[in-house]
Amino acid sequence: MTDYIDIIEEDLKELDDICDECKQKHESVSQNLILTGFKICKSCRVSKTIFPI
Ligand SMILES: [Zn+2]
Repeated sequence: MTDYIDIIEEDLKELDDICDECKQKHESVSQNLILTGFKICKSCRVSKTIFPI
């Protein structure tokens, strides 16, 4: 089971909660990465939804 924990800790290093769009740290970034595949914060996700590039 220790291997499983190690994998989670490695993943968390990737999830630094820094938004790719605005470069600000927000707890919603990792959630959006899982949900949408985009490493963006809540506000950037809203703006992308309204104005898709
Ligand atoms: Zn952002």
